Amino acid sequence: MNTPYFLIEEEKLEQNLRLLRSVAERAGCKILLAQKAYSVYQTYPTISNYLDGSTASGVYEARLGREEFGKEVHAYSPAFREEDVKELASLCDHIVFNTPAQVKKYAPLCKKKGVSVGLRINPECSTQEGHAIYDPCAPGSRLGTTLANFDESVLPLLDGLHFHTLCEQNSDDLEVTVRAFCDKFGKYLPRMKWLNLGGGHHITRADYDVDRLVRIVRGLKERYGVQVYLEPGEAVVLNAGTLHARVLDTLHNGLDIAILDVSAACHMPDVLEMPYRPPLFGSGEAGEKAYTYRLAGPTCLAGDVIGDYSFDSPLKEGDELVFGDMALYTMVKTNTFNGMPLPAIRYLGKDGKIQTLREFSYEDFKNRL
Ligand SMILES: *Cc1c(COP(=O)(O)O)cnc(C)c1O
Repeated sequence: MNTPYFLIEEEKLEQNLRLLRSVAERAGCKILLAQKAYSVYQTYPTISNYLDGSTASGVYEARLGREEFGKEVHAYSPAFREEDVKELASLCDHIVFNTPAQVKKYAPLCKKKGVSVGLRINPECSTQEGHAIYDPCAPGSRLGTTLANFDESVLPLLDGLHFHTLCEQNSDDLEVTVRAFCDKFGKYLPRMKWLNLGGGHHITRADYDVDRLVRIVRGLKERYGVQVYLEPGEAVVLNAGTLHARVLDTLHNGLDIAILDVSAACHMPDVLEMPYRPPLFGSGEAGEKAYTYRLAGPTCLAGDVIGDYSFDSPLKEGDELVFGDMALYTMVKTNTFNGMPLPAIRYLGKDGKIQTLREFSYEDFKNRL
């Protein structure tokens, strides 16, 4: 099969979805797909069998959720334009605003359309180390309203509160955050219909403590009588897709280097942004197996390096390499820098057949400009 391509696996996706459904049922909460992590709408019919709706960062994702997912559509943005809110009001069930000022400006329009209005809170409780760009509670954060910025005059306009502070975290960090949130904002919850706990819950990871999550959600429901929402992105498609690449050439410059037909910068930008070293099937850490290579992309960017990996035998032109956990934050983030072609998107069904959902061409590069 022509490389490069992403391969989404229906069986793996459904494994995640079954676990998420069981969490929703045991905890008595609703779970939404955060589309910013994954928007392959051709697979939404499967996802919507298990989840309660989708959440959006703006008009485009909300429209995609409305058109292709059905069920509930939610949206949040750090700031909305008036024309966005007008459009979102006919697409969404919930809109979450970032500040009391945006609530005051847009709540009347939302109410007229029957849209539930929320405010994002910043509980000022950092639970993650290392990834400051993924910490909405970092000092100086624009994401959410702190207690000092809370304006009680908006309370009558609010149906719910929202916080999103986690990234790839377990339920112990959620527990710490919920405690901080309730200490500061719990007094407002009895007058709310719902509480949205955002995303970043790594629920489908093997060591995730699901029982604790269920306890936390049930506790919130019992104490405050609110409908609880979770909106994971990553957890929905964790380990549910791969990126298939080929070796184009090898060279030696102090170390062995293999140039692939995939680029970190264009096809897996989180490798550089986060940064992290993606899993690669059949490989080891540098030096672990006999032959170590630096795997790099074909763009002009000197730093277009995926990582150092080792193999049992030397790499040669034409070898296929398969990167793991490539369904999340990849296809939504690819770009055509250097005029790089976009990888095709394929789907491995439970029947073992591979279906091509999308292939890209020169026109996709040209039409964006
Ligand atoms: C990014 C984001 C999510 C999803 O986060 P994951 O880490 O992919 O689970 C959910 N809600 C909000 C507001 C977000 O910004």
